[in-house]
Amino acid sequence: MTEIRLYNTKTRAVEPLEPTVVPGRVGMYVCGPTVYDRAHLGNARPVVVFDVLFRLLRHVYGADNVTYVRNFTDVDDKIIARAAETGRPIDAITAETTQWYLDDMAALGALEPTEMPRATAYIPQMVAMIEALIAKGHAYAAEGHVLFDVRSYAEYGRLSGRSVDDMIAGARVEVAPYKRDPMDFVLWKPSTDDLPGWPSPWGRGRPGWHVECSAMSYALLGKSFDIHGGGNDLMFPHHENEIAQSRCAHPEGDFARIWMHNEMLQVEGKKMSKSLGNFFTVHDLRSQLSGDVMRYVLMSSHYRAPLDWTVSRVEEAKVILSRWLRLNDRFRRASLDIPDSFEPDPAILAALADDLNVPAAFTRMHELTTGNSADTEPERLVQVVGNARFLGFSLGSGTGPDPSCSLEVAVDRVDAMEERLSQMCAEIDAARAEKDFALADSIRARLREVGVDVLTTKDGTRWERNVDFDRDKAETLV
Ligand code: AMP
Ligand code: ZN
Repeated sequence: MTEIRLYNTKTRAVEPLEPTVVPGRVGMYVCGPTVYDRAHLGNARPVVVFDVLFRLLRHVYGADNVTYVRNFTDVDDKIIARAAETGRPIDAITAETTQWYLDDMAALGALEPTEMPRATAYIPQMVAMIEALIAKGHAYAAEGHVLFDVRSYAEYGRLSGRSVDDMIAGARVEVAPYKRDPMDFVLWKPSTDDLPGWPSPWGRGRPGWHVECSAMSYALLGKSFDIHGGGNDLMFPHHENEIAQSRCAHPEGDFARIWMHNEMLQVEGKKMSKSLGNFFTVHDLRSQLSGDVMRYVLMSSHYRAPLDWTVSRVEEAKVILSRWLRLNDRFRRASLDIPDSFEPDPAILAALADDLNVPAAFTRMHELTTGNSADTEPERLVQVVGNARFLGFSLGSGTGPDPSCSLEVAVDRVDAMEERLSQMCAEIDAARAEKDFALADSIRARLREVGVDVLTTKDGTRWERNVDFDRDKAETLV
């Protein structure tokens, strides 16, 4: 069996995944969206990252042995504010945005998690957990609120590597008269009659945000489970608070054994924000790009590295996807099938099992798709299509604009341009053989002009794109 190794934020080390809670079965919990608006590109990153892991886990352990839980936060002050702004009922907003989210993530090729609990369906479990925390001396009720007493849990801050005192110094903590310590966080808060609320031992109210993930992961995965994921913006305070709640309510369990955090997405090197005008929702981009192209860009950086969404990466992804689609067309025309016994390429599996090294998996896809492979044609087509599907690409069967028609031309142009660059390298070699160094230099200069490095190797002159590579200019050389 493939050994999967994952970086664990808790231990700051890459560790083998050892599913021993229930031997041979894996439980994974990933924090999901607050449903009041369209998902933006950043929200899509953890979805795609953990979808790749879900697919790998299903392959290694069997689809029936993996439980992936991703919640919907459908009670939150941002939702209440949206209802007040728009005059629409909360239920209508959360139902509509939940469906938008599911449609957008499906367009990106993300499988639906095994369980998608909504917070409002787990209020009794949250109340029970809060009562247990009070009974064990880890929480206290004050003025209709219930607060978690962070000083009662010695390991608070261990995940993100901070002490409570550092946190107080560095954080914008809400000081409130009913708090014993400024870091204490809300488990339950009172609701006035016009706000969503549920009866509780502390009066009518609603949960704080953090407790839902502890209550829902306990209900669906138990007191110990294998993997917990989310963006690294959630590490503090959300994940610290989840750990404190769950470990104090169920000290006999481990809560999550491996913690995984994806880095953030940026757009053209900058934080995505509405004021900078570089804010995109998945829905906006679906009218311009196929789901596969978006998925490719979202997968193109290792999940623990920042991901820069740029126009040139999108263009690159379109060209690569068009190559895959062409091969998929040949696969279809040859009436080939992916057999049930299909095994993903060993190099792709090994790359994913190595802490989800998707860029290395893509390098192998590049070898398979550009023909640097010894396989015969039908085998190669089955490999390309089978592995692309394993990585979650729909290859034209998904929604959104099909890049193949407009890009067929683009791929031809790129092929012609690359051929021209190689030809110019051969011209340099020929000029040097004739001792016409002026001509060799001028060709070299034209190549550099378009952002290509000219390398002298034992097999002659070779070209390589550098960071200044400009495809439009390069195409003018043809
Ligand atoms: P929210 O609905 O704001 O709680 O965010 C939902 C998910 O999106 C969380 O897992 C966040 O970590 C993730 N997220 C938000 N912004 C970004 C970003 N710029 N890059 C990557 N992930 C993000
Ligand atoms: Zn959570």
